[in-house]
Amino acid sequence: MTDSRKDNALAFTRHDHADCQQHLLQTAQQLCAKRSVRLTPRRLQVLEILLRSHQPMGAYEVLQAMNDIEHNIAPPIVYRALDFLQQQGLVHRIESQNAFIACIHPGHHTTAQFLICAKCHRVAELDDQQLPAMQLAQDLGFKAEHAVVEINGLCAACRE
Ligand SMILES: [Zn+2]
Ligand SMILES: [Zn+2]
Ligand SMILES: [Zn+2]
Repeated sequence: MTDSRKDNALAFTRHDHADCQQHLLQTAQQLCAKRSVRLTPRRLQVLEILLRSHQPMGAYEVLQAMNDIEHNIAPPIVYRALDFLQQQGLVHRIESQNAFIACIHPGHHTTAQFLICAKCHRVAELDDQQLPAMQLAQDLGFKAEHAVVEINGLCAACRE
């Protein structure tokens, strides 16, 4: 893995996205094989659609994209695939937009922190597991399981 791929601002910077997409699809396949869970062609297709860009997509948009490939896909098929992908940490839900985005650092985190650009609609996922509030929760005897931080604003390119 190159340094640029680990870059927190990957989504906002010019990069070879085809390579990025391919790498993440491969990582997902390896993770599922290791966990002995089935990344069925349908689930893989949903992930591939979400990985077409670094912009989150609503479930309905994913359904539309699937219907472009193959007609008459029933919505529950998409919802079930999204559920599976979320359970495996391969996809995150951006709560403020009720939309989904492929995980950029799959397989190794319980906190997810996003920078959401209001102008280009791209979302960067920080590769940073340190969240001060999680430590505070632990100090208070609270068993924290999962945290999502959504930071809204403008990316560097859109500010220019
Ligand atoms: Zn990319
Ligand atoms: Zn993630
Ligand atoms: Zn932007």
